[in-house]
Amino acid sequence: MTFLNAIFRNLFSRPATRRYPFVKREPFPGTRGQLAIDPDRCIYCGICAKRCPANAITVSKTPSKSWTLDNYRCVICGYCVEVCPKKCLTMKQDYFSPK
Ligand code: SF4
Ligand code: SF4
Repeated sequence: MTFLNAIFRNLFSRPATRRYPFVKREPFPGTRGQLAIDPDRCIYCGICAKRCPANAITVSKTPSKSWTLDNYRCVICGYCVEVCPKKCLTMKQDYFSPK
């Protein structure tokens, strides 16, 4: 009898899962998806690269100014966002997906 109850309950109730990727769940507040930089505010001081525990950031001042992130090394800890003196790093809520 318990078995029949479970069958009828599941026949007439909403599914417990979403039809991903057609229906996506809204991210929770504070979700850490991927790192983003505002290059116009960056002074290329290199603090983020020095503090990154995964060595995912490379900053160069010479010969040309560059800031690069290795998404495959980044562990999304958010430490670089905290230490950046210009506050030009942010954590986006959408996840990194390779192109
Ligand atoms: S800490 Fe901030 S300002 Fe300095 S290089 Fe990193 S992103 Fe740029
Ligand atoms: S989020 Fe963490 S692991 Fe990723 S680049 Fe910043 S400090 Fe490094």
